[in-house]
Amino acid sequence: MQTMAAGSSSEPSWMTDELRGFRRTVRALIETRFVPHVDRWRANKRPDRAAWAAAGQAGLLLASVPETFGGGGGTAAHDAVVIEELARAGIQFGVGPQNYVAWYILKYGSDEQKRRWLPRMARGELVGAIALTEPGAGSDVAAIQTTAQRHTHDYIVNGTKKLINNGALADLVCLLVKTAPDRPAAIGMSLLVAETHDLPGYCASQPFDKIGMHEQDTCELFFDEVRVPAANLLGTEGQGFTQIVEQLPYERLMIAVSAIATAERALALTTRHARERRAFGGPLMDLQHTRFTLADCATHARVGRVFLDDCVRRFLGGTLDGATAAMAKSWLTDCEWRVLDACLQLHGGLGYVLDSPIARMWVNARAPRIYGGANEVLKELIASSL
Ligand SMILES: Cc1cc2nc3c(=O)[nH]c(=O)nc-3n(C[C@H](O)[C@H](O)[C@H](O)COP(=O)(O)OP(=O)(O)OC[C@H]3O[C@@H](n4cnc5c(N)ncnc54)[C@H](O)[C@@H]3O)c2cc1C
Repeated sequence: MQTMAAGSSSEPSWMTDELRGFRRTVRALIETRFVPHVDRWRANKRPDRAAWAAAGQAGLLLASVPETFGGGGGTAAHDAVVIEELARAGIQFGVGPQNYVAWYILKYGSDEQKRRWLPRMARGELVGAIALTEPGAGSDVAAIQTTAQRHTHDYIVNGTKKLINNGALADLVCLLVKTAPDRPAAIGMSLLVAETHDLPGYCASQPFDKIGMHEQDTCELFFDEVRVPAANLLGTEGQGFTQIVEQLPYERLMIAVSAIATAERALALTTRHARERRAFGGPLMDLQHTRFTLADCATHARVGRVFLDDCVRRFLGGTLDGATAAMAKSWLTDCEWRVLDACLQLHGGLGYVLDSPIARMWVNARAPRIYGGANEVLKELIASSL
């Protein structure tokens, strides 16, 4: 039986020897090809193109896509390992959106579409973005205004997408559009894949200046009379809303994975800090308030880990329902925030300096409570399942 010190982070219960080997590869790539460059990414508000190629070469991208389509042939557990390792290094790299786009193509695309896009996405030659949100519609997805009108062999797309991760580098934008604006959302929306290279009428803004996630390019995307071949429709016209709802549990699970890995990292860093930092003649750790705060953080992280591992196992077994995925995303990102805020406080003024790891984690942890479905919206979803 595995034993461990109370409060230490546990290995996920879904871990296998093969996944451990994969984790070592992922960690080595992040340490050698990402960490030394992240300051430049932050200055440029986007990662280098070369990082995408390196990630592709090392198998970080599309790890759960079958090998027939150029992917790693693994499962969502492989994707989770990549997300955990990025969280462990404190780096925001858009492997999430890349995998979400791949999953839409894999689930709803034709064989020709899968062969055309997935191998190049796996190699990091094509960067993917998922574009649902608009200036006037985020939580209320049904209120989007972007339209795609069919003209013989093309759709003509008009509209603006906002806050889109991987937006500056995106070669493939998986776009939610209204193909029948007068029909109800459930049958009036579709998913189109826009190939952005030299695409007339398409442009991306400069990345936004965000509170955190400074190395991640989050942009506004403009579509002005953009022609997208009808052959780039994913699945059946009018099914976009259903397709989004069907795939959200995967996205929400991955956000939850990142949340717990980050909380565990914050706990480890802060415990070390509390043992090393001295005040009033002894280490901070000798103060009862510090010990109790860290005890609470450790409890949150452990309870979160157990719940998350159950969700990952359910997902791998095909039984993770939408409401439970929403619980994981909302509860675990709130849990991450509580832990990080407490941990930053224990770092004192040093924790407020942006270059300190705890400050980076804190600013980054604010967004996951909003994206992937704002946590308040997810409570509605959970309540409707009761
Ligand atoms: C860093 C970052 C990256 C993002 N990346 C992407 C991306 O790649 N692709 C993409 O499509 N989108 C992306 N988004 C957008 C994100 O998904 C939306 O911000 C989110 O869905 C919330 O929508 P909104 O911002 O329009 O907020 P609104 O819909 O205006 O809601 C504002 C607030 O009102 C409350 N609220 C709204 N509706 C309800 C309700 N029914 N019940 C209770 N409270 C409610 C919530 O507190 C919510 O936070 C990103 C956002 C951020 C911050």
